[in-house]
Amino acid sequence: MTVTIDSKLPDVGTTIFTIMSQLAGEHGAINLAQGFPSFEPPDELKRRIAHYIDVGANQYAPMPGVPALTEAIAAKVERLYGAAVNPGTEVTVCTGATEGLFSTIQAVVRPADEVIVFDPAYDAYEPAVTLAGGVTRHVPLAIANHGHEFEIDWNRLESAVTGKTRLIVLNFPHNPTGAILSVDDLERLAAIVRDTGVFLMSDEVYEHIVFGGETHRSLLCNDELRERSFVISSFGKTFHATGWKVGYCIAPPALTAEFRRVHQFTTFTVVTPIQCALADFMNESPGFADELSAFYERKRDTLCELLEGSRFRFAPARSTFFQVLDYSAVSDEADTDLSARWTREIGVASIPLSVFCEQPFTGQLLRFCFAKDDATLEQAALKLCAL
Ligand code: PMP
Ligand code: GLN
Repeated sequence: MTVTIDSKLPDVGTTIFTIMSQLAGEHGAINLAQGFPSFEPPDELKRRIAHYIDVGANQYAPMPGVPALTEAIAAKVERLYGAAVNPGTEVTVCTGATEGLFSTIQAVVRPADEVIVFDPAYDAYEPAVTLAGGVTRHVPLAIANHGHEFEIDWNRLESAVTGKTRLIVLNFPHNPTGAILSVDDLERLAAIVRDTGVFLMSDEVYEHIVFGGETHRSLLCNDELRERSFVISSFGKTFHATGWKVGYCIAPPALTAEFRRVHQFTTFTVVTPIQCALADFMNESPGFADELSAFYERKRDTLCELLEGSRFRFAPARSTFFQVLDYSAVSDEADTDLSARWTREIGVASIPLSVFCEQPFTGQLLRFCFAKDDATLEQAALKLCAL
């Protein structure tokens, strides 16, 4: 007998990040597709991890996280966002932001509940909603600045929120477009969810990478939003360590209690020596993350300057470490075909934006990661300028 399985996620294939990284590897292409830095984490942080392994911090950490780390996270959000959160009852360390997103959705979404995401939407949200029995409603971001910037379309959001809406997923600073929120946006969001039972999940993994003197507006900055929010971040982007998979979720005590019911049976605890090392490093170098925006703004500017003579059109990214380029003057191929072809033939891998949309509306846009050393950016730009 052949054993078959009827998939719970029949529409889910391999992620675009895996596909493009694999293709880049096969063809020796410069990989500006999957978002990971070519820089090392700080030496002191690496030394601390080795130290904690040496001194025996190698067994299970407490389920919500090592207390020194939940305290350091609470201190950080108080300093940056003015939010006093209780490290014992409102902060949970999880296995990357990915686990925080998954556990939040499993904790909140019931069968037939609706979850709103903004397209282009990071690919981890919808499968988790589907597994929870929920239905994902895609609300496209509005296109601004001649097709080169994106923002929330408040009218569309307002009409998408119904009695069935259980959760709205936000991701600002936004991957892939670099869109950010303003204080005004937080107010408009608060007006829409006021007097409803809607929860918010805010994926803020790029919280420390915002350009042009702008400030990241965390949902933690707004007391009214905070009451119903799960705010998720990751140390992967902040410390150039995407492979460590350590993140956290901040939510009010009752919401955190529900989150932990899921978290304790999803991963239970997170890698102990890395938690201990992160706590020390955050306490001793609290300014490290504050330098990140300037660091990546220089990288963005380097890439944009290198591409000035190219036929790509773009507005410099406002946040994250991704630059979106409009290739309409270069080719009329579909973005998925073109990103694959250029990986094979030109030797530069990128991510097509349409894969993040239910109804592709983003046009001819590709995302390029600029978290790379200058030599790599120069090599890639040379190839792109020749197109
Ligand atoms: N959310 C967004 C928007 C991301 O770009 C990523 C990828 N870094 C994640 C979540 C996942 O973060 P982590 O690697 O910490 O799970
Ligand atoms: N977040 C990363 C990106 O947007 C990729 C994460 C992954 O590979 N799943 O490129």
